[in-house]
Parts: sequence; structure tokens; C-alpha cells
Amino acid sequence: MARERWLLARMGAVAAAAMVAAMPACTGGEGAGSPRPSPTAASTAVSPTSAAEGRLTIFHATHLDGNYFYEDGRTFAHYAALLKHLRSALPDPGASLFLGNGDDITPELRRRTVTGYDVGQERLADSGGLGAIAALNAAGLDVDTYGYNELEWLDRLVRVIPRARFAVVSANVRDRRGGEVYGAQFGARQWVIKNVGGVRIGITGLLNADAARFAGPEVQVLDPVTALREVVPRLRAAGADLVVVLSHLDTRTEAQQVAKNVAGIDLILGTHIGELLPEPTRVDGALLSVPQFGLEGFGQLDLTVSKGRLIDVAFRQHTVRASGPEDPEVSSILRRYGGRPG
Ligand SMILES: [Zn+2]
Repeated sequence: MARERWLLARMGAVAAAAMVAAMPACTGGEGAGSPRPSPTAASTAVSPTSAAEGRLTIFHATHLDGNYFYEDGRTFAHYAALLKHLRSALPDPGASLFLGNGDDITPELRRRTVTGYDVGQERLADSGGLGAIAALNAAGLDVDTYGYNELEWLDRLVRVIPRARFAVVSANVRDRRGGEVYGAQFGARQWVIKNVGGVRIGITGLLNADAARFAGPEVQVLDPVTALREVVPRLRAAGADLVVVLSHLDTRTEAQQVAKNVAGIDLILGTHIGELLPEPTRVDGALLSVPQFGLEGFGQLDLTVSKGRLIDVAFRQHTVRASGPEDPEVSSILRRYGGRPG
């Protein structure tokens, strides 16, 4: 399959990060956006300049819309088997991430239906999100964010976040009762930093601003640019070499605005609405990647980082097929939670 390469120069990121008040650098293997800023944040001077060198691979996106089964026989077990196979075949499987972009955690697993030109969904037995979380855990998901499907039942969903082995992050879905990410008391974070292949990857997520219309009374969906202008400097100051945004945005409008108006973003991954991109596209300093999603397929980004900058990206699209193998662990979870209601 054709591979595309770009030489990239991140524009403005280092300069922008240098202007913000720094927070203490993260010392552990994984950092996370604290529910409250550190009291020493404003007075601790830490240089955000990075000298990181490394290679890593990112698999994305998800955007399953709750459809863990397709009418044509494909299931999330096919998706997981292909992804796990590719991941284990990497020179260093540990230097990889599997990143979601929301619309994945539904109360029940769903089966996509197609009648003529109509695409619908059959809702299977309600497990309170446990089926979706178990399947995503078994597939090796590292980080996900809130999409519309999560927003619909967010007050209940957040209570099962402790069951997720992946991090749940959002820069702009906030709790009106204090301004922190919604679900912070159950483990949701504005961002996380993952040490992967010698590079500290700062990861946050954004939901389409229009989703505010569907939010419950306690939930606030902030303007994506406003929220990210707050979160990206914190990520940089906390030691992130690269900043990755899990996107549940409108690619044609919001993702472009975010890339143009927020300094310091390296990658914007996935979409809520907008055309697929046959290859990642540069928008100002950020690279926008929108591969196939759902059970159709996913993208692979092989990244090379030098002196803290993303200098090379190779993209590959992978297609999930019903004729491919099924991951046995995910398969057994789908059988367990894929019964009909009642
Ligand atoms: Zn969506």
C-alpha cells in the first residue's frame, strides 16, 4: 500500500509554549491533567524546550457510533484482530498508541442495519456501558474522548469510567459545578501524557461545539478554540513533546479553526463530520488525519521525532474485512454483551 511522507516543521509551537507560565514537569511514566492546577504552577519556571528523539506509531480512529456489529458480518473483533496484529508486528510494539475519538461508549452494543438506502441501528442488551468498555479494553485502546454518544448519557457513563483501562480525556466537556472536565471525580482528565518510544505524547480531546444543545444541565461544552488555548500550554509546560487532539469536531470548520488559532498542536486525529482524507493534511502547524473509521478501518501514523519536533510522518490506511480473523478475547466479550434486550 502506498505510503506518503512529509517533512514537517512545527510552526510557532515552541515560541507559544515558551510564553506561558510553566507547570512542574511530569516525572512519572504517565502524567494526567489534574482536576486543579498545581498551586506552584505560576511560580515554577520549567523550560518547555524539548530534546526528545524517537519513533512511534499511532493507530486511530474509532468513532464506532456504538456499532460493534455490522450487517455484513464485520464485528469489532475483526477490527481488534487486525489492529493487534499490526501492533505486535511493529519493531517495538511498546512504542505505539491506539487512540479513539469518541462515539464509542454507548450503554448497549449496537448492530448497524442497512435497509435499502437507510442505515439504522439495532440496540442490543443494555449493560450500562460495560460491554463497550470491556471490548475497548480488550482491543488495547489507550485513550478516548467524549463524542455525542457519550454526551447523551454522560451522567451515568462517568460512573463506569473506573472500569476502563484506557484514559478518558476532554479539553472542552466541562462540569458546570466547578469548571473541571466532566467526570473528573471518576477519573476523566483534561489531558494525559504518555511516554512512548522516548517521546512524551500529550493527548487531549475536543467535542463539536454544537453538542452543547444536547448536554445535560450540569454539562458545559466550551468553544474548542477557547478550551484548547487553555489546555495546550498546560500540556507543553507539563513536559509534552508533542500535542495530539482526539477530534470529535467538524473537520471542514472547527478543526481548521482550532489548527489556525491554537499554537502548539502537532496532530488532530479523526472527525465527527467531514470528508475522509486520503492522506494527512497540514493546516498551519498541525497535521490533520482523518482515515476511515467505525468498523470500516483505521489509519496508522508512523512518526519520527527529533529534537522534540515531528520531522517525518508516514500514513497507511487499513481496511477491516469480515473475512479476516477475529480477536478471541473481543469476540467472547461481544458474545457475552451482544444479546438482544429482554
Ligand atoms: Zn460523531
